[in-house]
Amino acid sequence: MNNTEKTMEKIVALCKGRGFIFPGSEIYGGLANTWDYGPLGTRLKNNVKDAWRKKFIQERHNSFEVDADILMHPRVWEASGHVASFSDPLLDCKECKLRFRADNLIDDFDPDAHADGMTKEEMFEYIKAHSIPCPHCGKHNFTGIREFNLMFATHRGVTEDNKNVIYLRPENAQGEYVNYPSVLRSMRAKLPFSIGQIGKAFRNEIVARQFIFRMREFEQMEMQFFVRPGEELKWFSTWKEWRLKWHKALGLGDEKYRYHDHEKLAHYANAATDIEFQMPFGFKEVEGIHSRTNFDLSQHEKFSGKNIKYFDPELGESYVPYVIETSIGVDRMFLSVLCSAYEEQKLDNGETRVVLHLPAALAPVKCAVMPLVRKDGLPEKAREIVNDLKFDFSTHYDEKDSIGKRYRRQDAIGTPYCITVDHQTLEDNTVTLRHRDSMEQTRVNVADLHRLIHDNVSLNSLLRKLA
Ligand SMILES: [Zn+2]
Repeated sequence: MNNTEKTMEKIVALCKGRGFIFPGSEIYGGLANTWDYGPLGTRLKNNVKDAWRKKFIQERHNSFEVDADILMHPRVWEASGHVASFSDPLLDCKECKLRFRADNLIDDFDPDAHADGMTKEEMFEYIKAHSIPCPHCGKHNFTGIREFNLMFATHRGVTEDNKNVIYLRPENAQGEYVNYPSVLRSMRAKLPFSIGQIGKAFRNEIVARQFIFRMREFEQMEMQFFVRPGEELKWFSTWKEWRLKWHKALGLGDEKYRYHDHEKLAHYANAATDIEFQMPFGFKEVEGIHSRTNFDLSQHEKFSGKNIKYFDPELGESYVPYVIETSIGVDRMFLSVLCSAYEEQKLDNGETRVVLHLPAALAPVKCAVMPLVRKDGLPEKAREIVNDLKFDFSTHYDEKDSIGKRYRRQDAIGTPYCITVDHQTLEDNTVTLRHRDSMEQTRVNVADLHRLIHDNVSLNSLLRKLA
């Protein structure tokens, strides 16, 4: 089989056409860089979340999930440093009036320039010295660089004055930190323990691009792991290893992952690494692992005036715990799953099929049941099988078009199994079970369907390897 190249255009087209992702507000012409998950995308995304939740919340005795409010007290963002320094260096083209990120201009001009290590002044000098042209109009006539805060601000209640400013959270982590004392107390937790959360965060970035890879509204799936001071770097290495193993267990291909250790660290961190995935547009971060020290909790102690120290019964002393954070971009993870799964296969008979080789446990539809023809009692028998399987698996029923076309439809959404009911079924209660990747068909008894499917589509089939 000779397979054609996969591109982002093809993947985006599949997402729109097959119900995975639609442009946001599409009937109004769309709203730039917003995307809505469709019926199949929502299911796939939930399956990704379940794979994380099962491993890192359910299977750990000292792991607690919270669902904090997106709106938080404005002082939270003063304590965390976001009000003072969560910004992008922006400049305007005086000719065409478009606004750009200075570091992006430099990185696009020369990927080896490493703008992320430059100060604002150094970036300005670099852009001037190399006469970097405006990506839109080609002229070189920029304003100076100014810092723009990335938080979405709005107002509480009806009065639009400064006292009522409130932010959509730019990261989920603070929701876990401010709930740390309550979780500790109510769950009678002991160090080390973790608080996890899945939820939306918002960043008003000037450049949002690459489909769902970089959006202003995005979902994070993350965990803050609280440890004794001095043990954080040991735990950082452990978590680095655990997290990569989890990614690899999903079966997208071990060679598609790599670590990227940070040289320049955020003000709160003493070690940081990314897990990068090979997207069609290069290796990109899907998860960040950060040793965030005791910075955030100490700040909250200072700003709130509340004592949030942990009394360690073994050491007989109190301290502010250190924190290891592991944070996945759910949308990026979704994209990595789709990109690795997508394939256009040239078949031996000259036809081409689009197939998503999704890990069966993540597939939005586990099996499709099809009567070979729409008569002779076959549809009724097929529906009977659906009605049995649907309690445990997301199951499609399809009777329209030729059987070949129906198989192609299921291949394109990554359904691992197609079950075909034919005349023989009525005689001996057997059906054909078609496997998505190999396209092989086997004759099996209806009574065995549940077991055969379950063994391969359950999350346990993936996560068992990690036990
Ligand atoms: Zn311009």
